[in-house]
Amino acid sequence: MQPFVVIKFGGTSVSGLPQWESIATVIRSRLDEGVKPVVVHSAIRGVTDRLQAIADDETPDAEAALAEIADLHRALAVELGLGPTPDLDAELERLARAVRARHDATGPSAARTAEILACGERLTSAVGVPWLQAQGFDVTRVDATELLHSRPRAQAGATALDRERDYLSALCDSEADEAVRARLAEAGEVVVTQGFTARHPDGSTVVLGRGGSDTAAAYLAGKLDARRLEVWSDVPGMFTADPRRIPSARLIHRLDYAEAQEITTTGSRVLHPRCIPALRSRRIPIHLHSTLHPHLRGTEVLPATERGHAHLKAISRKDDVVLITMETLGMWQEVGFLARAFQVVAEAGLSIDLVSTSETSVTASLDASANLLDSALLAEVVDRLSAFCRVEVIASCSAISLVGRNVRGLLHRLGPALEIFEEHRIHMVSLASSDLNLTFVVDEEQADRVVERLHAILLIEAARTEPDGPFGPPWTRIRAGILEPEEQRERWWHRRRDELIAIAAEKGGAFVYDLDTVASQMRKLLAVEPVSRVMYAMKANAHPDILRTVRATGGGFECVSPGEIERLEEVFDDLRADEIIFTPNFAPRADYAFALDRGIPLTLDALHPLQQWPDLFAGREVLLRVDPGWGSGHHEKVVTGGRHSKFGIPHFEIDEARALVERIGARVIGLHTHSGSGILDPDHWTRVGERLAELAEAFPEVRIVNVGGGFGVPDREGLPPLPLEALGDGLTELRARHPHLELWVEPGRFVVSEAGVLLGRITQIKGKKGLRYVGLTVGMNSLIRPALYGAYHQIVNLTRLGEPPEGPVQVVGPICESGDRLGTDRPFPESREGDVVLIANAGAYGRVMSSEYNLRAPAEEVVLGA
Ligand code: ASP
Ligand code: MG
Repeated sequence: MQPFVVIKFGGTSVSGLPQWESIATVIRSRLDEGVKPVVVHSAIRGVTDRLQAIADDETPDAEAALAEIADLHRALAVELGLGPTPDLDAELERLARAVRARHDATGPSAARTAEILACGERLTSAVGVPWLQAQGFDVTRVDATELLHSRPRAQAGATALDRERDYLSALCDSEADEAVRARLAEAGEVVVTQGFTARHPDGSTVVLGRGGSDTAAAYLAGKLDARRLEVWSDVPGMFTADPRRIPSARLIHRLDYAEAQEITTTGSRVLHPRCIPALRSRRIPIHLHSTLHPHLRGTEVLPATERGHAHLKAISRKDDVVLITMETLGMWQEVGFLARAFQVVAEAGLSIDLVSTSETSVTASLDASANLLDSALLAEVVDRLSAFCRVEVIASCSAISLVGRNVRGLLHRLGPALEIFEEHRIHMVSLASSDLNLTFVVDEEQADRVVERLHAILLIEAARTEPDGPFGPPWTRIRAGILEPEEQRERWWHRRRDELIAIAAEKGGAFVYDLDTVASQMRKLLAVEPVSRVMYAMKANAHPDILRTVRATGGGFECVSPGEIERLEEVFDDLRADEIIFTPNFAPRADYAFALDRGIPLTLDALHPLQQWPDLFAGREVLLRVDPGWGSGHHEKVVTGGRHSKFGIPHFEIDEARALVERIGARVIGLHTHSGSGILDPDHWTRVGERLAELAEAFPEVRIVNVGGGFGVPDREGLPPLPLEALGDGLTELRARHPHLELWVEPGRFVVSEAGVLLGRITQIKGKKGLRYVGLTVGMNSLIRPALYGAYHQIVNLTRLGEPPEGPVQVVGPICESGDRLGTDRPFPESREGDVVLIANAGAYGRVMSSEYNLRAPAEEVVLGA
């Protein structure tokens, strides 16, 4: 018998002519492969939702809703160039009858709902099959109820809820079925059947639960003992994180069943979680593909091969999680407490996901897909539990899981990622004994930042260090249609290597700046359309040539001290006061007077100046820096928002600030927030802006919303840059919502980090195998970021650029301090005394933070000529 391949197409993959053309292409290539394609498809996207609304009597006018569904399918038939469609007419008639019958007194109502829902897929078949036939395929349309028979849940002891689920979320077997194989072997060269649908032993039509076309296809693949199941949708597979939130997430090419199961059950929607159990024991592979990028290799789900070492594959996230903490009332070591508590939850029909226990309390997480929070159900559960324990409910949580093999082997690397929890509470941690997943439950509003950070630290690194690993291209590239393997991004210092080596030979060590990079970074931000002003945060690098370059592109300056203002006055003799914004923090009164005397606008970030020095501000225009209540950034010490930060006026003081300003007779013309740095999530600034715009409603004179800086720069090789188009899109929408507000930004690092490198020469090499040290002429007195923040800087041996790495080394400086380490465990070629070593991304917070510690002069600055 010819082998079968079951190919499932989702709701977006059947909605128009281009999609059907892709289906035809896939069918053709499977025929070429010599297998028999069995196509299982969904209803056109949105149709099941509408049918559900009709069945639930949630549409005001069912007739009108039906007419809309009919129009949608007739329009598709026209788009596909079909003539009369008798099958479609018959299916529409069947649907109309089912809708009319929904209030009949006979039969359980779940069965009538299922009959209505199942029509969506039938309507699609009725249009798609004639089109495929018109393309010359020998297609047999087989109704799914002939192929899949459901298995009602336990007959005895089945609850009413179980019986309802037997119609709306039915289960089937996936054992090989000779009858079904024989039936389809006889059919035409291509078989098409609808997903989502099966037959109950009582003869009625049942559905397999929302998203159940995947499941139908998996059951069928099992019954047919198919060579594989292919699932085609608008996403090419599973990613290292949800790509809509983390655009740098990478496609995963290979997963084993257990890992894929973790990903589907902890949040990803690309594959229904019931598919895997149906195929796992049969070892039938699942291939995921995208109809939008048909040539892209997607995700293959296969039996496990790699064992042993720790391997992280993805970070997944589930929202709407509710935690219930149950504390026993002093009955220590009480027998049966858990059993009683779980009984209550089970009786409410809720399922428990995670559990953690201590001597006196138990915390359980409930998966609240159905708006549990507002439901009477939760109240009832709490009520019943309260009879024997103290109950606390924590709503709106997210469960964030690290998924992979031997996750416990990664625990030691979590340190930096977990720093974020100093600011935000973790409610629960659970490590699955299968060692496949480590889950943190946090407040939902923190989840974005936690996921972003864990992903940046753990997965981007994993993908980088394993070029042959299971990881595919990042989502940003797939979306942009760039699918070849990522080429090494050419950096300016590759091109100017000879000059750099000459500079290092002459000076021993030096910061070297490329002004073209400064200008091009400025222009990138100035090109983000909704941004009206780019104020360069000159604390990042105050070199006169850099200041000149910034000004020449049209940028202004953000200063934090009188010294910085004086530097500008030295460099430019025609600078206007409004090209500067002064943002001091805990500065003495004299600093404010210094700026005000010059007419420079300033930002206040505390009430103290207004309370204690009212005369200074009478009649003045000021901006207020508010603390958004949370912070983010690449390290704890650069988080500048949130409870533990010294910056900004907290929310609860805003009213007082307004009253003070009014009393003094000052005017608030702008609001500002700067909540961290090194941020690569493009939506961050839109969120900040929205928050400020809301606050601005209380300040009639506000016209400026300054969303601060923090624009991240990829510090590791392979990390994609901040997606500025996405940033622009978000800010454009923000502007559209608040057209009267001007948007300002204050980038520092973004402008200069990549424009500068630190060069040093190798002084000594120590150690053979094991721990090897490479010493440089430059150390923490030149670049303190690694010691201070644990910052990562790419380090290369410029003299031996391109030579194969020999082994990991510790790159250290000449300062008498054990923290004088620039890089840990870095791949490095065989090196010699005198080689020139380059430390990348040293243009920001390099020389400005350097010192004469040990009475060693820090590296001097050199600007490259054009
Ligand atoms: N049409 C069904 C739904 O939307 C099944 C599926 O598409 O997987 O839930
Ligand atoms: Mg789906």
